[in-house]
Amino acid sequence: MKRIVLLGATGSIGRQAIEVIDANDDLELVAAMSGRQAIEVIDANDDLELVAAMSGTQAIEGLAPLTQVGGDPTELLERAEPDLVLNAIVGFAGLPATLWALERGVPLALANKESLVAAGELALAAQERGGGPLVPVDSEHSAAFQCLECRRDDQVMSLVLTASGGPFRGRSRDDLADVTPADALAHPTWTMGPKITVDSATLANKGLELIEAHFLFRLPYERIDVAVQPTSIVHALVRFRDGGALAHLGYPDMRVPISYALTYPRREATPIPPLDFASGLTLEFHPPDLETFPLLGLAREAGERGGTYACAYNAANEVAVAAFLAGRLPFLAIADVVEETLAEVDGAPARDLAELVEADTRARALAERSLAVA
Ligand code: MG
Repeated sequence: MKRIVLLGATGSIGRQAIEVIDANDDLELVAAMSGRQAIEVIDANDDLELVAAMSGTQAIEGLAPLTQVGGDPTELLERAEPDLVLNAIVGFAGLPATLWALERGVPLALANKESLVAAGELALAAQERGGGPLVPVDSEHSAAFQCLECRRDDQVMSLVLTASGGPFRGRSRDDLADVTPADALAHPTWTMGPKITVDSATLANKGLELIEAHFLFRLPYERIDVAVQPTSIVHALVRFRDGGALAHLGYPDMRVPISYALTYPRREATPIPPLDFASGLTLEFHPPDLETFPLLGLAREAGERGGTYACAYNAANEVAVAAFLAGRLPFLAIADVVEETLAEVDGAPARDLAELVEADTRARALAERSLAVA
């Protein structure tokens, strides 16, 4: 029996993870934690209406023998002594739990991409010390992980992350001047939480995923490409030096990568139907529109500059997205806030978590200042 702690239990990933755990007799949920973010976003925005809800405490009670709402996730981890941690916390707040698991060699299923983006170097060093497996839950990274499994690094030429393009694919900058949070939250292929859905609409999500992939697979940025694949059937491709490429295909359903990470390396059964080629699958690919969606290029730049630039990118984006969802910032200004913040931070590397938290705090303050001017 694998004893699992689920962090971010009431979010989209958390709820689907509970389905996967319930359906598998070898998986046991021993502790669950939820935050409070979603309700704050909805409360702050007049366009969003909460039609049904349970309180954080009600939503999580009874899910597991140990539960916690808000607070320090590492306290819950200490008490629960898990065999595996599924970290589905949203944003920088997920970082301490990631480092806790990696440092101790406790297997980590990682759905919190921000912790690798902001703390890639620290996380890799912790993983080297701990020696436990890190299996990504992000669909593109799970796909790439599977294509790369058991292959030697020198065989791999490059990795291609796919993007649906989000709800505004094909639009120009002019078309996007007046989009509302409700427009940005209408994702064509994936149903997700509000932060990541806005990030998908700006392509910041793909930017974060680019940096996440750089650390996860230890590939230089020039060997990671992004392609738009509107139906979200191909989740990633790996190109090899002999001209061959392997792709991972599947319906856009997060229960697949969640199950893969929770049951790794056993690839247990799920109730997801196999791909139906008779019903007409469309697999077209396009290059991303970097002009309309500058956050993708800004992420690549921040990643290439190294140090805490990626941490600042993430921090500024979190601040700007929260302001957009609260109706305080136009959609196109999200990228402006991130760009201005990146121009002002020093990007000096962080030697430990405390220095990283400082870099994150400074970037947030700069982003807030840039919001006040916008
Ligand atoms: Mg993804």
